[in-house]
Amino acid sequence: MNNPAIYWYRADLRLTDLPALVAASKQGPVIPVFVLDEQLGGDWRPGGATRWWLHHSLQSLKSDLRARGGDLVLRRGETTTVLKELMEETGAQHIYASRQYQPWSQSLESAVKSLAESYGGDFKRYPGTLIFEPEEIKTGGGTPFKVFTPFWRACLKAREPSLPVAAPTLAFVDTPPESLSLDELNLLPRDPNWAAGWEALWSPGEGGADRALQGFLEGHANNYGEGRDFPAQPNTSRLSPHLKFGEISPRQIWAAAQHLKHAEPSSSASIDKFLAEIGWREFCNHLVAQFPAMPDRAFNAKFDHFPWGENPDYLKAWQQGMTGYPIVDAGMRELWQTGFMHNRVRMVVASFLAKHLLTHWRLGELWFWDCLLDADLASNACSWQWVGGSGADASPYFRIFNPVAQGEKFDKTGEYTRRWVPEIAELPNKYLHKPWEAPALILETAGIELGETYPSPIVDHKEARETALGAYAELRAQFSE
Ligand SMILES: Cc1cc2nc3c(=O)[nH]c(=O)nc-3n(C[C@H](O)[C@H](O)[C@H](O)COP(=O)(O)OP(=O)(O)OC[C@H]3O[C@@H](n4cnc5c(N)ncnc54)[C@H](O)[C@@H]3O)c2cc1C
Repeated sequence: MNNPAIYWYRADLRLTDLPALVAASKQGPVIPVFVLDEQLGGDWRPGGATRWWLHHSLQSLKSDLRARGGDLVLRRGETTTVLKELMEETGAQHIYASRQYQPWSQSLESAVKSLAESYGGDFKRYPGTLIFEPEEIKTGGGTPFKVFTPFWRACLKAREPSLPVAAPTLAFVDTPPESLSLDELNLLPRDPNWAAGWEALWSPGEGGADRALQGFLEGHANNYGEGRDFPAQPNTSRLSPHLKFGEISPRQIWAAAQHLKHAEPSSSASIDKFLAEIGWREFCNHLVAQFPAMPDRAFNAKFDHFPWGENPDYLKAWQQGMTGYPIVDAGMRELWQTGFMHNRVRMVVASFLAKHLLTHWRLGELWFWDCLLDADLASNACSWQWVGGSGADASPYFRIFNPVAQGEKFDKTGEYTRRWVPEIAELPNKYLHKPWEAPALILETAGIELGETYPSPIVDHKEARETALGAYAELRAQFSE
């Protein structure tokens, strides 16, 4: 029998459409391993919410591998040290993995390559996380795209996305190496278990990802174009945490969506809009692969000189959903209670933090990192910079979301806001997004005492907007645009 090959699982926790696993299966018996390297990534180590998802996703992968006669080896420690130990223990010389694009991935992968070579083997890295690799998509001048629309056009012109590949038939070693138990990885929150209700909301794992995709395509995909901006309605796919952990590949999503387009041509426009969002995920990953400082520094360097405020009370009120702006508070509480927030509301709360509260976008980015189940280094960084005005292809700084107008437009009937901010649920729609304008009698009838049962707005929208625009004007003058 050939030497066993190590399959190094990272953010590709699946069996289907995994080219690196197919290649490993051809080499010989496979030892699938996941290494919890708690130091990797610095500030960008897995946050609390993603640790919860990771636990359940590993559990699901373990049981899928067991059903095939194998198992997932779980280890903890510095990655190359752990892989070296495993090579010593098993005689494996080759390591297979899917490519990752975080700023630290390249040096880690080089170290793993050297390790494998020192054992007379090789590190074999395959695509599997994106549809298009960063090296494939360049401007005519050979530079990375910094604007989404021409980027996505170039992707669609470059080639047809290749078809997903089936899960391989796997052989395993007779005596698997020792593994930690899932509980020993200590990924779940305890004392308190703030994720107690999440199992009813989410189904981590490859099976759950597949069901989420099928449910979306059979249910709301037709209405995605029109309906994606309304947070009370289940019109988006909620595939983001599954994609973050690689329980499904974007190629699988692409192929299934194309199939629906052919079967139901009337869905084409909606499906293309949905696939363009998958395109944004590609764009963000390409950007971070090529501009690795993106999660930490303003892409447009002049914003590193922006006069950010330093009011910790503002940050706390925002984090706790106690700003006095109902749509903002609804979003922040949805995030805290479910590990997720609708995209439209993410834009509103991010704009509010960076512009109304003049708080550095990186503090918001870090909070999202800890709280989001789909916390993804590239999408999070690019989106925060997009909203904050400092990113590639960013929304212009002077575009400041009005939280009242956003609430009235996208949550007109108040269903979303009432769900997450129950203390103002009895307000009539007219005042739901601006309780401070409600007459005293209406507030009293609704059981609200502003400043007591629900906060008064922590900043005045008009004043905050003017202050933000003033700060921006100063920045522009300083850099004489
Ligand atoms: C401030 C801010 C922070 C964000 N942080 C993250 C993050 O950490 N992780 C993350 O996956 N998304 C992030 N997003 C993007 C977006 O909000 C989520 O991807 C989306 O809400 C996930 O819901 P869904 O799966 O139902 O999306 P759908 O609308 O069904 O879209 C399908 C998929 O496309 C991708 N996608 C959609 N919108 C975007 C986008 N704007 N940028 C990049 N990819 C996108 C996601 O993978 C998503 O699952 C952020 C957006 C903002 C404004």
